[in-house]
Amino acid sequence: MHAFDYSSKNCWEVYNSNQDETAINQLSARYLDFLGACKTERETVAYVAARLEAAGFSAEGFGSGKGMRNIQGKAIFAAARGGLGLSAGLRIIFAHTDTPRLDLKQRPLQEQSEVAQFKTHYYGGIRKYQWFARPLALHGVIIREDGASVRVTLGEAKGEPVFAISDLLPHLASAQMDQPLRAAFEAEKMNLIIGHKPEPVKKRDERRKKEEQEQNRIKNHILRLLHAKYGIVEEDLYSAELQAVPAGPAVEVGLDGSLLGGYGQDDRINVFLGLEALLASLDGENSHSCCLVFLDKEEIGSEGSTGAKSRFFEYCVQDVIAAFDPGAGFAEVMLASRALSADVHAAVDPDWQDLHEKLNSALLGHGPCFCKFTGSRGKYEANDAHPEYFAWLRGILNKAGIPWQMAELGKVDGGGGGTVAMHFAGYGMNIIDCGPAVLSMHSPFELTSKVDLYATWLAFKTFFSSR
Ligand SMILES: [Zn+2]
Repeated sequence: MHAFDYSSKNCWEVYNSNQDETAINQLSARYLDFLGACKTERETVAYVAARLEAAGFSAEGFGSGKGMRNIQGKAIFAAARGGLGLSAGLRIIFAHTDTPRLDLKQRPLQEQSEVAQFKTHYYGGIRKYQWFARPLALHGVIIREDGASVRVTLGEAKGEPVFAISDLLPHLASAQMDQPLRAAFEAEKMNLIIGHKPEPVKKRDERRKKEEQEQNRIKNHILRLLHAKYGIVEEDLYSAELQAVPAGPAVEVGLDGSLLGGYGQDDRINVFLGLEALLASLDGENSHSCCLVFLDKEEIGSEGSTGAKSRFFEYCVQDVIAAFDPGAGFAEVMLASRALSADVHAAVDPDWQDLHEKLNSALLGHGPCFCKFTGSRGKYEANDAHPEYFAWLRGILNKAGIPWQMAELGKVDGGGGGTVAMHFAGYGMNIIDCGPAVLSMHSPFELTSKVDLYATWLAFKTFFSSR
């Protein structure tokens, strides 16, 4: 290599000591546990809050120097006071807690052809065909009229039944095979099979059996089971948020165990890494006050009271200013702040290389990937991060010997995507997208590299503790 050239490095070549291997495996094991257990935004926020609480963060406010606040249990903000006043700005890592999935409709339960089903309405950018004929679990909450919250996790425990959406058999698929992909899989056919056993008929009602068979006996049986398990009736499902998600744990992938496979890595990998980085950097004296902001609804445009377009972030920062440094002005703090929009990037897929532009694409194992702008076509809807800011970032990573890469999302005019970066850039802070590269993004089984997990954790830690 010529001394003036640049090329990104394979992190396995950088982190190759026994000590590195132990650290990589320990972090990966903790991550897989988290990923397998947290499959909704509420579960993710509850995990983050519990870890923060154990590290001394107060849910009551920011007065102690370490505080957190959540909204609706779906988004969470945490702040830890640094040595400098807030006019020096905050160091912030943003990530998102939501993931593409199948939400249950508000009136979900139906019976047809001797099968009971829950009707679904997909959330976020899914490829519908990936959700058929595979084990699915149900996660979520049902809020009863008396306000009681019933937590649901079905299909995860060993021996517990799972759910599934049936797929068309190849023998009858000839018409479908000629349809474009967009038309071949209908959202209204994505119904979750939840049972097929009729409600038992009492002896004395034997005469009415035939008549009752016409009357949803399988659906009624399901309602009876739901009532026995959760104390709910059909109407309670109108005030529920239940999500069908891939069932089962997150696992290592590959003969060498070098990859991590599981649902929801976009963007829980960055929630996990942001949290781990903040907790690990609390030991040293961070010069700047550091914040984690994990938001909901990124996958559907950052809308709603828990998304990036809401005022939640602003409310929290105002409270932090009042607690840490009441003399600092909100605009002053925002304009001096530096942030990472921690979101995943598309890794070059070995089988779809032609969709990437090689000089500006991310490789698995080459460390955290920066993305100067997302958006589509002529950079529409992009936060175009400033070169002064990225110069500083690559400087601190180079100094710490942490490999990094920079990429665009595919070829120009090949598609596109967005993150929360643009919403926070509007406050005047410096912000850039950064996160590990992923294969099979938005699928029920996303793949990341163990060594990228490790390198990104180091990068986030360096970001929090840098001057
Ligand atoms: Zn994402």
